[in-house]
Amino acid sequence: MRKKIVAGNWKMNKTLSEANTLLAEIDSYVKTNDPKCEVVVGIPYLYLANAKEKYENLNIYAEDVSEHQSGAYTGEISAEMLKSVHVDGAIIGHSERRQYHKETDEQIGAKVKIALENGLTPIFCNGELLEERKSGKHFEVVKKQTEVALFQLSPEEIKKVVIAYEPVWAIGTGETATPEQAQEIHAYIRSLIAEKYGKEIADEISILYGGSVKPANAKEIFSKPDVDGGLIGGASLNIKDFGALIQTY
Ligand code: PGA
Repeated sequence: MRKKIVAGNWKMNKTLSEANTLLAEIDSYVKTNDPKCEVVVGIPYLYLANAKEKYENLNIYAEDVSEHQSGAYTGEISAEMLKSVHVDGAIIGHSERRQYHKETDEQIGAKVKIALENGLTPIFCNGELLEERKSGKHFEVVKKQTEVALFQLSPEEIKKVVIAYEPVWAIGTGETATPEQAQEIHAYIRSLIAEKYGKEIADEISILYGGSVKPANAKEIFSKPDVDGGLIGGASLNIKDFGALIQTY
C-alpha cells in the first residue's frame, strides 16, 4: 500500500512565537490521535533547526533547497545544511518558486537530485496554469515538468520522491480541481512513471493533490484511487483545519 500523506506548506507565514504555538499543537495532535497518514510540515528555513531539535519525531520539511552543493551562493540553503539540522525533506518546484523566482524544470531536477543525495525526501510539485488548462495543454505541461525534472533519476531514487500535483489556478484561489479532474491527471502522472520505470515503481509513489484543499472538500478528493493525500497551504495554518485534514484518513 502506498503511503498516504497530509503535508502542510506554511509558505511565508508565522512569526517565531506563532510557529512555536502551531508546531506544539501539531505535535500534540499527532501524539494523541495516532494518524493513519504520514503528517509532514513544511516551514520557513528560519525555524527548521529549532523545530527539529524540539520535535524530532515530526516530519519537518523545508519549502525549498539550493540546487548547488555549497559555496558562493548568497542567501541560499544547501541540502547538506538541511540534513545537518535533521530536516526530513523539502518541497521542491512549488509554482510560487517557478513563478516568482523563475525556477526552471532543469533547476528543479537538480534540486530533487541533490536533496536525494543528502537523504532528504523531495516533494516535487508540478501543475499547469489556468490558460494551459483552458487550452487543453495540461497533460502536455505536466508531462514535460515531470520528465525533465524526474526522469534523470535512477529507479531507486525515484521511489523516494513524493509528487504533488498542484494546478496553479487552484492555489490559494478557493477554487479546487474536481475530484475527477484530480484523479484523471494523477492517473496520467502515474502512467508516465509506469512507462519509464515500470508499474511496480509507479504504484509505490505517493501523488498528493494541492490547491485550496479544505476539510470540506478533502474527503472526496482524497478518496480517489490515485490521490494519496494533499499538500495544503492556507488550511495548514491552524490546527483545527490541519487536524481535520489529517483526520480525513
Ligand atoms: P492552498 O496552497 O492550499 O492555500 O491553495 C497549496 C499550496 O500552494 O501548496
